[in-house]
Amino acid sequence: MTRPTLSRRQALFAGAALPFASALLSTPVQAAAELQGASMPLFNRFKLGAFEVTTLLSGSRTVENPGDIFGLNVDPAEFAAVSEAAFLPTDRAQFFFTPTLVNTGAELVLFDTGVSADGMVAALAAAGITPDQIDVVVLTHMHGDHIGGMMTNGAPTFANARYVTGSTEHNFWAAAGNEGFDAMVRPLNDRFTFLEDGGAVMGGLTAMAATGHTPGHMAYMIESDGQRLALIADAANHPVWSVAYPDWEVRFDADKAAAAATRRALFGMLAAEKVPFIGYHMPFPAIGYVETRDTGFRYVPASYQMMLNG
Ligand SMILES: [Zn+2]
Repeated sequence: MTRPTLSRRQALFAGAALPFASALLSTPVQAAAELQGASMPLFNRFKLGAFEVTTLLSGSRTVENPGDIFGLNVDPAEFAAVSEAAFLPTDRAQFFFTPTLVNTGAELVLFDTGVSADGMVAALAAAGITPDQIDVVVLTHMHGDHIGGMMTNGAPTFANARYVTGSTEHNFWAAAGNEGFDAMVRPLNDRFTFLEDGGAVMGGLTAMAATGHTPGHMAYMIESDGQRLALIADAANHPVWSVAYPDWEVRFDADKAAAAATRRALFGMLAAEKVPFIGYHMPFPAIGYVETRDTGFRYVPASYQMMLNG
C-alpha cells in the first residue's frame, strides 16, 4: 500500500523542522520592531494626456456622528442600514482634504490649498514640489478647508502665483464679512482673475458651475490629448452617503436643493460619458468613477487605470 503523497511530504517537513526548532530555542530573542502608527502616502501622480496630475493629501481627520452631517433629512435607521451595507461605521467617519496639482508642461496649477499651509506644503514636498514653483492657484470655492493654505504667517504661501476663482464665489465671500476670506483671500485680491461658467483657467482647464455647496462653487474639467478627468471639488463629499443618495441633505451645503440638483447633473454626465473624477473629500487618493445605480449612483474607486495612462 502506497502512502498518499501529501502525508509523505508532511512527514518529511515534520522531521526537518525538529533541528530548526531546537536551534531557535538557543538563539537570543531579538527586539521586536516598533509599531509606527497608521500611515498613508501623501501624493498620487499619474499622466493625463500631455499633463501630469497629482492628488495631494493635505490633511485627514476623524469626525464623529457623520449622520448629523450627511443625512439631515434621513431617518437614522435608514442611515445606519445604508452604512452597514457599505461596511461603514455610523459613529465615526474619516475626512480627507485633497488639493490637486496639474502640471500642464508649461505651468503648475494647484486647485485649492488645504486646511493649513503646513499640511499643504508637506504634501507638495512629498511630491517634490516647493510652494514657490506654483504658477497658478485655483480656488473651487472659499470654505476654510480650501483656502486654509493660502497664507503662511501673514505672507502668501505661493509667492509667485496668480490666482483664479469664480466671480460669483468671490463676490459672495467679499461681501459676507467672513474671517477666513479676510485673512486668506482679501490680501491677495489684486492677484486674482475671475471666471464664469465655461471659462478656462487655460487650455484644458475649464470651469463648470456646480452651485449649491456654496453660491459660486465650481467644478473643473481637465482635458489633454482627448483624455478627460473631472475635478468635482465639494459637489459630493462622501462616496456612499452623497454619491449613492444625492438627495440626502448635507449640513455643509448652503443651498440643499441646488446641491442635490448639481450632484444629479454632474454625476449623470460623468456616468454617461465614463469620465473619472477627483473629489476633494473622497477617500485618498480621491479618484474614482460613477455609474447610475438605483435612484442614485455607485462610486467605483479607481484602482490601476491611471497608471496605464501614457
Ligand atoms: Zn471642503
